[in-house]
Amino acid sequence: MLGRDPFTTAGVKKGPFLPDVAVVGAGPVGLAIAWRCAARGLRVVVHDPAPGSGAAHVAAGMLAPVAEAYFGEHELTGLLTASAARWPAFAAELADASGADLGYRADGTLMVGLTADDLAEARRLWAYQQGLGLPVTVLRPSELRDREPALAPRVRGGALAATDHQVDPRRLVPALRTAAERAGATLVASPVRRLSDVAAGVTVVAAGCGAAALTGLPVRPVKGQVLRLRAPGGVAPGFRHVIRGYADGEHVYLVPRGGGEVVVGATVEERTDTTVSAGAVLRLLRAAVDLVPELGEYDLVETLAGLRPGTPDNAPILGPLPGRPDVLAATGHHRHGIVLTPVTADLITDLIVTGEPDPLLAPFAPDRFAPTGSEEGHPWN
Ligand SMILES: Cc1cc2nc3c(=O)[nH]c(=O)nc-3n(C[C@H](O)[C@H](O)[C@H](O)COP(=O)(O)OP(=O)(O)OC[C@H]3O[C@@H](n4cnc5c(N)ncnc54)[C@H](O)[C@@H]3O)c2cc1C
Repeated sequence: MLGRDPFTTAGVKKGPFLPDVAVVGAGPVGLAIAWRCAARGLRVVVHDPAPGSGAAHVAAGMLAPVAEAYFGEHELTGLLTASAARWPAFAAELADASGADLGYRADGTLMVGLTADDLAEARRLWAYQQGLGLPVTVLRPSELRDREPALAPRVRGGALAATDHQVDPRRLVPALRTAAERAGATLVASPVRRLSDVAAGVTVVAAGCGAAALTGLPVRPVKGQVLRLRAPGGVAPGFRHVIRGYADGEHVYLVPRGGGEVVVGATVEERTDTTVSAGAVLRLLRAAVDLVPELGEYDLVETLAGLRPGTPDNAPILGPLPGRPDVLAATGHHRHGIVLTPVTADLITDLIVTGEPDPLLAPFAPDRFAPTGSEEGHPWN
C-alpha cells in the first residue's frame, strides 16, 4: 500500500484506530474515493463539516465529454471520455450499494444553434469534436424537431451527442455517502485546517476549492449561477434530452429531470462570491425560453451560485504532492467533477492499493504546477 503504515511508521501516532486513508472533503470525489477504498478493505475516515455542500450541490450533473470537448483540451477530453464510459456500470453498482435512485438518464444531448451565427459557431465545434472521433451526429432541422418537438421553430440546426448522459448530483452525493458508510468508512463532521493535523497512512485532499489553502495548489473558485425551474403541476418537462445551445451568442444548457425540474445554467465568472445577479437570471432565462418557449410557463423555484474548483489548464490535479507520496491530491475538477467522479475514484484507489500510478494519471500530476523556487514553507511540507 502507498504511504506510511500507520501502525509502524515513526512520525505518525500509533494506535488501533488510525485509518489507512483519510479523505479531506465529502463531495462526490472524496466520497467516491472513500467508497472504493473502504470496499477494498482499507480503514477510511472522511473529514467534512458540511458533506455535499460544495460545487456538487449546485451542479447540473451533465456527463458530457463530447459536448464539452473544447479546442486545446485534448488530454482532458481523453479523461472525460474514459470516465463517461465507466458511468453506466458505476451508476448501477452505486444504486445497488446504496439502494438509491441516482436520477441517471441516458437520453442523450442535443447541441443546437438559434441563429445563423450561433449555428456557425456550433458547427466549428462539432467539426472539431468529429475530428477527434467523438460521436456527434449532425441533424437536419426536421430531424431535430422530430426528436424534440418542444424546440422553438426558430432554432436553425443541431447535432446529437447520444453518449452524453446525465445524473442528479443531489441524489448522487447522498448515495455515495451511504455506500461509503455501508462499506465501513467513517465520517467526521469537522474541517481539516492543516494537513499536519491528519494522521493516516495516506491523506487524500478532495476538498474542491478548499484544496488551495491546504496544499498551495493553484485551485481557484470559478463562479457559476444556475436556475431551477419546475413544470406546472410537477409533470415531466416537455423534452427529454439535455439541450445545450447557443442563443444569440449566449451559451445555455437545459437539463430535464423527473418531478418536472429543469436546471438552467450556467454563468462562468472569475469571481469568488456566491450572490445571484438579476442580469445573469435575465440572460439565462431569455436564452432558455428562446430555445424552448414552454419554459416561460414554468415556475422559477431556485436561483443559486456555486464555485467550481478551477485550475490553470482546466484539468484536474490527481496524484501525490511533490515530495509527499503520502498526500494525494484529487481536486481541481472544475466544470467536470461529476463526470470525472468514477475515473478519479478508481485511479486514486488503485494508486493507494498498489502504489503504482496508472498511465492515465500522468498528464494530471500535481507537479505540473510545482513552484520553481524554494519549496521551503510550502503548505505541503
Ligand atoms: C454551476 C455549476 C454547474 C456544474 N455542472 C456540472 C456538470 O454538469 N457536470 C459536471 O461533471 N460537473 C459540473 N460542475 C462541477 C462539479 O460540481 C465539481 O467539479 C465537483 O462538484 C467537484 O467535486 P469535489 O468533490 O471535488 O468538490 P465539491 O463538490 O466542491 O466538494 C468539496 C467538499 O469539500 C469540503 N471541504 C472543503 N474544504 C474542506 C476542509 N478544509 N476540510 C474538510 N472538508 C472541506 C466541502 O465542505 C465540500 O463538501 C458544476 C459546477 C457548478 C458550480
